[in-house]
Amino acid sequence: MKSYQTIDDMRTASRRAKHDGKRVGFVPTMGALHEGHLSLVRAARERCDFVIVSIFVNPTQFGPKEDFGKYPRTLKEDSKLLTAEKVSAIFAPSVDEMYPKGAATWVEVAELSNKLCGRFRPGHFRGVATVVNKLFNIVDPELAFFGQKDAAQCAVLKKMVRDLAMPVELVVCPIVREPDGLAMSSRNAYLSAEDRKRALVLHRALKKINSLYAEGQQDAAKLIAAGMEILRAESGVEVDYLEIVDAATLDPLPTAGSGALVAVAARVGGTRLIDNILLP
Ligand code: AMP
Repeated sequence: MKSYQTIDDMRTASRRAKHDGKRVGFVPTMGALHEGHLSLVRAARERCDFVIVSIFVNPTQFGPKEDFGKYPRTLKEDSKLLTAEKVSAIFAPSVDEMYPKGAATWVEVAELSNKLCGRFRPGHFRGVATVVNKLFNIVDPELAFFGQKDAAQCAVLKKMVRDLAMPVELVVCPIVREPDGLAMSSRNAYLSAEDRKRALVLHRALKKINSLYAEGQQDAAKLIAAGMEILRAESGVEVDYLEIVDAATLDPLPTAGSGALVAVAARVGGTRLIDNILLP
């Protein structure tokens, strides 16, 4: 496995792979890798013969009071995991490499960027869209793999790719969970033992909504109320949102139906966690 830090080196390697007839697959990450990330890598390996994983904690997607400074950075361990997964190359640029002095160009997916997490994290999806666009320009993958865990991010990036006619196919992979149901996340490392238990409430609320829906309840307001009741019953959990929305437009749905996205974000002991399900 090769490791590249500069845009030029990464681009040259990717071009060479393409020139050799290889199909390039790309998995963008912020590192601190877990089984959720590795599931994307495995999906990429199944469909591509040159898999590139980027590891870049992107400053522009963090708000001024968010956790950019303390976000876990574990490049050594990440490299070991990716070597074992037989990844072809890692791209781990510095912030200066990705954002040269005076960089002033942004990609803004209007409207969608202000929904769900975008409502609570102003500028977040602008940072995500900008960095993913830039990474696509560097890596030029045929396929790029993202997790359903970040459902709003998937909607924003799909729209960006469509609106800008970008020559890449996005593949969305299912959420990988801990055995007790907690969605895997690099931020789970912040949780104390007590908060780790409390955090399960997100999944519990989603499961409740799923089972009420399975029993025939389709009134979104009633489903949300039932989920909120569960969330509120857990101490130390502050809910940002629990919404039932169209998975593509992220607009709230009055009536839940097949394929609707039920998304939750909450702070558990100061750690912001997200989770979601798609109704069957
Ligand atoms: P991150 O490093 O948090 O930016 O995540 C990189 C990619 O991994 C994103 O496409 C995430 O949606 C995906 N991802 C993170 N956690 C999970 C998970 N538990 N299951 C599946 N994909 C995930």
